[in-house]
Amino acid sequence: MVSTVIPVQPFDLVIFGATGDLAKRKILPSLYRRLAVGQMPPEARVIGAARSKMTRAEFRKMVSESLEEFVQPKLLKPETVETFLGLVDYVTVDATGTNGWSTLCKKLNERPDVIRAFYLSVAPFLFEEIAHRLAETGCSTPECRIVIEKPLGHDLQSAKKLNASLSQVFDEGQIYRIDHYLGKETVQNLMAIRFANALFEPLWNSGFIEHVQITVAESVGVEGRGSYYDKSGAMRDMVQNHLMQLLCLTAMEPPSRFDPDAVRDEKLKVIRALDPLKITDTVRGQYRANGKEGGYLDHVGDPHSRTESYVALRVHISNWRWSGTSFYLRTGKKLAARTSEIAVVFKHPPHAIFPQVDEQKGNALIIRLQPDEGITFRMTIKEPGPGGMRLAEVPLDMTFADALGEEAGEMPEAYERLIMDVVRGDQTLFMRGDEVEAAWAWTDPIIAAWAESGSKPLPYDPGSAGPIDSYKLTMAEGHIWRELLS
Ligand code: NAP
Repeated sequence: MVSTVIPVQPFDLVIFGATGDLAKRKILPSLYRRLAVGQMPPEARVIGAARSKMTRAEFRKMVSESLEEFVQPKLLKPETVETFLGLVDYVTVDATGTNGWSTLCKKLNERPDVIRAFYLSVAPFLFEEIAHRLAETGCSTPECRIVIEKPLGHDLQSAKKLNASLSQVFDEGQIYRIDHYLGKETVQNLMAIRFANALFEPLWNSGFIEHVQITVAESVGVEGRGSYYDKSGAMRDMVQNHLMQLLCLTAMEPPSRFDPDAVRDEKLKVIRALDPLKITDTVRGQYRANGKEGGYLDHVGDPHSRTESYVALRVHISNWRWSGTSFYLRTGKKLAARTSEIAVVFKHPPHAIFPQVDEQKGNALIIRLQPDEGITFRMTIKEPGPGGMRLAEVPLDMTFADALGEEAGEMPEAYERLIMDVVRGDQTLFMRGDEVEAAWAWTDPIIAAWAESGSKPLPYDPGSAGPIDSYKLTMAEGHIWRELLS
């Protein structure tokens, strides 16, 4: 299967924070790959902006080094790299000062009719300032787009403040809030599987689905990011955004159309239908030290920190479709494997005619985000051969690497898809302001309840599946977490 590439219109993309980690690792390599496959037109311009004083040539050298480091060698063709570097420019701009803005605007206004987008790949405290400066200096236009990424606030109040401030200078239709999980091929495939096939949707409810598990597990700790992470924790850093988005796509009603607001309206309804969390539906953890290697408290440099590096939740959605189905969410650091998946576990047949039915097995749809993006459907079949009716579990596997053959090695990164959607003006895979606020409105009370309870996160061993109590959360309803496998 060969994927179709539809070129986008010429555009000017300004990357604020172009000398930073995200730009070097993700944004610039993603743009290069889109040029290499013919989606980004050679009339596009990528304008880096940051405070560092750099000539255009110096910036191009930095970009060239990023491509060397972060693009697969087989895609690095010297003539394509040259073409890409030819589209790259740089302006020294201080977001908090006056320096550089007129140069940037002059450059942009050379091409007033070209699609214009600003990617704010900078610390979040600069979002509002840059947005307002863009408007004041005349760099922004009524059609331009602005791209921001988590953290989108720290709680409901700060998220509301950010949204209100952005809305003074940009319409909602111009604001692209990235959650890169939504750019993942498998996550979009979840929508395709649900809404483009007649098979699953009639079964997609509490009558047939026993429970759902959403796991985003990391094997690394917080080393290096300790002080940032400690102000946030797993709930703010992962649940409020990534896991919430995966929950929404799994649980939402079919939208009437595949258009941005129809999809986002349905996602919002899921968040609003979530039951308030009880503290007994949550388990918090902190990884402990392992031999010479420090634990969470060492990594954040605060022996009294109560910030969670792991969280597991039992979530219920109060609507007709999901009443009675538990959704289990878990995410954490220093776990046994780096793996992200959604597991939709179906009920057993109502009447068992075969003797050896394993309560923990049966039909399940596993949507793997990483590693090896793909979808597996677990079936029970007869074990081959004579000797009686023995049953076996087999996966119907749709690993994209197999399904797409050669192409899979070049499967687009989430950022590639999302940046091209910004250029196309398609907001379907971006979060709307009210979604972000609704997610904070749900997570804030539980964070406050943890603080009020005075309880500490439970310690867990690095390389484990989290605190033992997370198993009690599922066992209470006769369920068991899937093994964490990389
Ligand atoms: P970073 O490595 O610290 O880079 C920050 C960038 O901002 C640098 O290019 C810096 O360049 C520029 N900058 C700082 N102050 C500025 C100012 N006053 N005016 C103009 N430019 C300024 O940060 P990052 O890791 O790339 O992250 C960028 C954003 O993406 C953050 O909001 C982060 O939370 C988010 N994010 C990052 C990742 C990731 O993987 N890195 C993942 C998800 C989200 P100068 O010093 O030259 O000005």
